[in-house]
Amino acid sequence: MSTIKKLKANKRIALVAHDHKKADLIDWVVYNKAALSAHQLFATGTTGRLVEEALDRPVVKLLSGPLGGDQQIGAMIAGGEIDMMFFFWDPMEAQPHDSDVKALLRLCIAWNLPMACDRATADFLITSPFMHQAYEATLPDYTDYLHREIKEE
Ligand code: PGA
Repeated sequence: MSTIKKLKANKRIALVAHDHKKADLIDWVVYNKAALSAHQLFATGTTGRLVEEALDRPVVKLLSGPLGGDQQIGAMIAGGEIDMMFFFWDPMEAQPHDSDVKALLRLCIAWNLPMACDRATADFLITSPFMHQAYEATLPDYTDYLHREIKEE
């Protein structure tokens, strides 16, 4: 039995960028300022501060990524409070919070959440007609997993 998650026309968007990718994300949000204006923005601490300054609009800022911000966004995704994510992560540098990054990427897949991790994919996503209309996302069916039998040792 699959579950449908209804995304409204107005999306709740998470923005995250690693340090060497922040300039790229800021450039991208400025270019897409009009397209983003219809949506609510959430971000890890430093990314959020930079986006707020660049767009001159409020962003819901969580903790800085390495201090728990990635995990806060992950929890919001699991709780159905985020609709999509633009996460410009750095493929050339190990992060102190690599495990959190991996967890965040995993949760997006676990909850069938639209996610762009590079600028080209971000361009495709932001120009999708679904950005401006309601969308029904089919969530994976975890019924069997939730009701699995745990054998006693
Ligand atoms: P930051 O965190 O926006 O606070 O720099 C980003 C990250 O997850 O590394």
